[in-house]
Amino acid sequence: MVDVSSLDGGEIEVREERVIPGGFAAALSVSAGDLFEIVDLEGQQVGDLVGFATHDRTEWLSTSHTRAASLCLNLRVGDVLQTNWRRPMLEVLHDDVGMHDIITQMCDERRYRIDYNVEGHRSCRSNFVDVLAPWGIAEWAIPDPFNIFQNAPIHPDRTFGNQIPTSVAGDRIVFNVLADAILAVSACPQDLNPCNGFNPSPMAIRVGSPR
Ligand SMILES: [Zn+2]
Repeated sequence: MVDVSSLDGGEIEVREERVIPGGFAAALSVSAGDLFEIVDLEGQQVGDLVGFATHDRTEWLSTSHTRAASLCLNLRVGDVLQTNWRRPMLEVLHDDVGMHDIITQMCDERRYRIDYNVEGHRSCRSNFVDVLAPWGIAEWAIPDPFNIFQNAPIHPDRTFGNQIPTSVAGDRIVFNVLADAILAVSACPQDLNPCNGFNPSPMAIRVGSPR
């Protein structure tokens, strides 16, 4: 595992940093002008990302509005992530991986019960419920996620796959923050399909100002 304190932060003068154990989540507040970074510390790990406008909880990061704006089913450097009110919230500044899923829903307890016959499995949805509770954000308000580093290749017949991520230890994606927001990342606990290489592992999130 990469020691996050050994990472120099690249473009970021780091102000706040959270190491997220595999299968858990963290949330923090960011301001317009900040940089926000997600780091895969061991590799092959997906980070589900959701975001809410700080001053209006009816406004959130929206995959469908982002897809409509970018006409793309992936994230690329320069892409702007839109809210449901069609305002820009994040812009991709740097990306080591180049493969993300902005189509599929996050894992939840129902998914593990219905599709895998497993009761009580940790899930991204329950992780978000836990870490967003201090901001008063209810489960029903949690939007579709941006699945950072998820390897979901789109096939010519418009079906898509679910493969082991190509990310390696230390790979990172960095966003320009364009609007004040509450951002949460879940190091997805899915260990029953290839999405996290069958081994959920830690991630880090960092926020700060441009150097
Ligand atoms: Zn998940």
